[in-house]
Formats: sequence, structure tokens, C-alpha cells
Amino acid sequence: MKCTQGGNFSKGELQRFGNIELSPSSGVLNYGQGLFEGLKAYRKEDGNVLLFRPEENALRMRLGAERMCMLSPTVEQFVEAVKETVLANKRWVPPPGKGSLYIRPLLMGSGAVLGLAPAPEYTFLIFVSPVGNYFKEGVAPINLIVEHELHRATPGGTGGVKTIGNYAAVLKAQSAAKAKGYSDVLYLDCVNKKYLEEVSSCNIFMVKGNVISTPAIKGTILPGITRKSIIDVARSQGFQVEERLVPVDELLDADEVFCTGTAVVVSPVGSVTYKGKRVSYGEDGFGTVSQQLYSVLTRLQMGLIEDKMNWTVELC
Ligand code: PMP
Repeated sequence: MKCTQGGNFSKGELQRFGNIELSPSSGVLNYGQGLFEGLKAYRKEDGNVLLFRPEENALRMRLGAERMCMLSPTVEQFVEAVKETVLANKRWVPPPGKGSLYIRPLLMGSGAVLGLAPAPEYTFLIFVSPVGNYFKEGVAPINLIVEHELHRATPGGTGGVKTIGNYAAVLKAQSAAKAKGYSDVLYLDCVNKKYLEEVSSCNIFMVKGNVISTPAIKGTILPGITRKSIIDVARSQGFQVEERLVPVDELLDADEVFCTGTAVVVSPVGSVTYKGKRVSYGEDGFGTVSQQLYSVLTRLQMGLIEDKMNWTVELC
């Protein structure tokens, strides 16, 4: 789909996956006007396919577009385009229990612009790929290192939207962590260097007794759709959930830690290393609360339990 300033997004067409043409002076290549989303389609036993809260991705892209001075498709256009793309690629949705179809909507400033300004034209496209687990550990516990020098987001910046530059910002710390054998990096706030923010591509939670805590969304953390869903699921399961400032010291003293995201779903954290000190959680790392939440969320997403929240969209 394309849109020029003052216009509406045109109806897009399905195309085979391949290279696209882009002006060397496009807004996305020169000034980083790019946003993306990520969602998954799961196959049910009856062959139908389920999407999970696609309108939330559409809304997040619209908020991001506003921050990045970009035009974006309407929620209806976004959701319709996702449905059409998934239906056209239904054969690539893995069988139940064997993974999912990852859906990647992209919005970019495709119009040419030389001086610093918003691009005059925007392109929205979607591509898909079958996927298994995000971390090589699968659903086994991941090991995080807390980064206190490099930051992914600053107050007033773009950390709270899903813009491409945020991901370029984490590559250095993430590559260094992976080279040392860690699964990913946990970022701290850049002002006090003390409060938890998030991991490179997922949100973080800690469990202490019956209380589940996660950093409050305040502009430097991506408002994850899995995060929001897990908060509701946890409350419905009788847990107390707090969204607040979470000091790193508290994390080191937690009973359980887990990450949430479309790609990682609910991933247990087996250990956190902070300033050379490694803290491990539980014997095998997959704590009972993380397991319970993982089980409810994944069964919901796969259509194995009743969807009382009306979160899934079924495609036949
Ligand atoms: N934080 C970051 C930086 C992410 O890239 C993601 C993945 N989109 C998340 C959190 C989790 O968001 P969601 O649950 O919507 O996938």
C-alpha cells in the first residue's frame, strides 16, 4: 500500500516475496523513518488459523507513526491487509505445536527527501515467514546480562515506539553479550542507571511471592502486546500485578524472572548477571508462575482454551 501526503493509503496487492525498489534519497534510508510490527498466526487442530490481537499492532503502529511524523494505514486497513496476507500464505502456517507464521508489517518513508524533513510518500508492506522458537534455548531458561553503559532509549526519545533505529541502537550490546554466551541484554534506565527497562526485543517481569512486577510504561519502554496480555492473564489467575519502577536490586532477589514478547512468548530467565555477579532462579529456571502464564497464554493463542477476552481472530 502507498500513500502520499494529503492522501489515503491505496489498496495493496499481493506479490511474490522479492526485492523492492527504493529511492536512495528515501526518508527511511536517510532519516530512519521506519516502523515495524510483529505478530503470529497459529494453526488450530481444525486447520483454521488464529491471529492474536492484530488491532493492537495496528494501533501501536499508528502511535509510532505519529511520533515519527509518518502517515500510517488505518486500523481497518492494517488488519485487513494482515488477514489477506495470512490467508494467501495459509499453507506456510506450521501444523499445531510445530511453530507459527511470523507476520512482519513494515511502514517506511519511501518518498525522496534531501533536506531533513518527513518523506512525502509512505509505503506499507507485510511479509511472513514460518518460525519456531526465538531463543536457541527454546522454552528453556535464558541467561541475561544487565547493560549499564549502553542504552537503547532516552527520555523524550523514540524508545516507546517500534521504530527501526531502536534496534540498531541495541546491536552493539547484544552482539557483545551473545559473544560472551548470554542470550540477550537487559537495559537499565539511562538517568539513574538503576531501574529496569526491557530486553532488546521483549519486556521483563519478576515474581516475588504472589506479586508480579514489571517496569511501568513511560516512553522509554515498548508497550508490548504480550506484556499487556500477560498482565490481564496474571490478574485473572489471582496474582497481584504492579507496574512501577523496578530497581535492579529487586530483580536479583526475585523468586522468578521471565520475558514476554510476540517472538519469545513467555521465556523464563534462568540467570541474570549484573556487574559480574550472576544470580540464578530456581533449579531449572522455569518457575511455576512463568510456566502457568506461558501455558494459559499459548493455549489461548492456539485456540486450545476458551477465548473469554475475545483476543483471537479466526481465519478459515
Ligand atoms: N520490547 C521490544 C524492544 C520489542 O521489540 C518487543 C517485540 N515487539 C517487545 C518489547 C514485546 O512486544 P510484543 O509483546 O508486542 O511483541
